[in-house]
Amino acid sequence: MSPSSRDLFEEALRLIPGGVNSPVRAFKAVGGSPVFLARGKGCSVWDVEGREYLDYVGSWGPLILGHAREEVLDAVTNAMQRGTSFGAPTEIEVEMARALTEAIPSMRKVRMVSSGTEATLSAVRLARAATGRDLIVKAEGCYHGHVDALLVAAGSGVATLGIPGTPGVPRAVASQTLVVPYNDSSALGEVFQRHGERIALLILEPVAGNMGVVIPKKDYLATARELTRRYGALLALDEVITGFRLQYGGVQSLFGIDADLTTLGKVIGGGFPVGAYGGRADLMDRIAPAGPVYQAGTLSGNPIAMSAGLTTLHLLKRLDPYSRLEQLGKSLAEGLRAAAREAGIALTVNVFGSMLTPFFTSEPVTDFRSASRSDVTRYADFFMKMLKRNIYLPPGQYEALFLSTCHRDSDLDRTLSAAREAFAELAA
Ligand SMILES: *Cc1c(COP(=O)(O)O)cnc(C)c1O
Repeated sequence: MSPSSRDLFEEALRLIPGGVNSPVRAFKAVGGSPVFLARGKGCSVWDVEGREYLDYVGSWGPLILGHAREEVLDAVTNAMQRGTSFGAPTEIEVEMARALTEAIPSMRKVRMVSSGTEATLSAVRLARAATGRDLIVKAEGCYHGHVDALLVAAGSGVATLGIPGTPGVPRAVASQTLVVPYNDSSALGEVFQRHGERIALLILEPVAGNMGVVIPKKDYLATARELTRRYGALLALDEVITGFRLQYGGVQSLFGIDADLTTLGKVIGGGFPVGAYGGRADLMDRIAPAGPVYQAGTLSGNPIAMSAGLTTLHLLKRLDPYSRLEQLGKSLAEGLRAAAREAGIALTVNVFGSMLTPFFTSEPVTDFRSASRSDVTRYADFFMKMLKRNIYLPPGQYEALFLSTCHRDSDLDRTLSAAREAFAELAA
């Protein structure tokens, strides 16, 4: 008999810190022991015991086309036959660069890396080199990967696990990062007024996903653009989640913004370890070997990962699923709100396209402070009650549910009837 999730976790705990290779997978915030997954197809995943779940995690965002998409598997299989890595330039890297720069007008040149963390890390270094300044401004509750300079007041697992700052980040490094509340234009104005001449980079999630979904207020991103220009700082939009998820390309064009630097990951890797950063040509030409700013990677632009990512992009362009995904997101959000209302549960659902978060509060959620008013114990209960009904939600409040092109109306119906039962139990 094959080992159960519980058996595997027990052994994993002996061998891997916390039993997992990335913190939020451990179910620490929701209690219980994590489900070990064995297989996925479309919007379904199966655990090692053969139990099927309807998946709203989608590998934390990449799988907008669902698990094991046929065309992606074919592309990967074909690429693999020709060799898995060369450490020399390949044609598909040029194709990927062309696809990304055509889809994101502010991205004139792009460098591929192997994770979102690497992308933001490199953007920070480049911004400091290009401006000759050290200070970084980030928003509370935004997560930009586990980069030393960006772990201050970070969202996602850092917020979920209540880790204050992070031990191991030198005080000298943390002191170069200034934190502002998200969605607060006057706080941005103040930080630039006070430190503007020393700020290298303002980095933001254009639609936040890592304090749960939080939508930028009208003019917030425009203010960020205007202030960075006025003070000679750079604006990086971290589109690791939003890139190619909310429309083909970046979400920045929906807001009429051109970033100086854009970071990508998740969807563009089609389920493989991929990140990218790019932007203005004069900035990107400072990267080695064109310029002096060093950044490299043994497996950067890996042909297998590129084939999965590029096939995903081609499919997204051809299928143009975005308006249907937005409709699904709206339906799910409205259904959850109605179900909560019926049960007398205070719930605020933030939705943007195919990403949404239910917060257990009656107040609007517009920044990290309001997000943390959500009753996270209640989220944990809700998560467990949904899991029991074979619905797999993100195991933490400060995350987004992700819809894929595989989710059908019938899947939403199933989800909402489970949610009605779960809310009724919560209210009892
Ligand atoms: C996931 C994420 C990252 C980090 O990407 P990794 O591939 O996990 O290193 C960075 N920024 C945002 C906005 C993310 O959601």
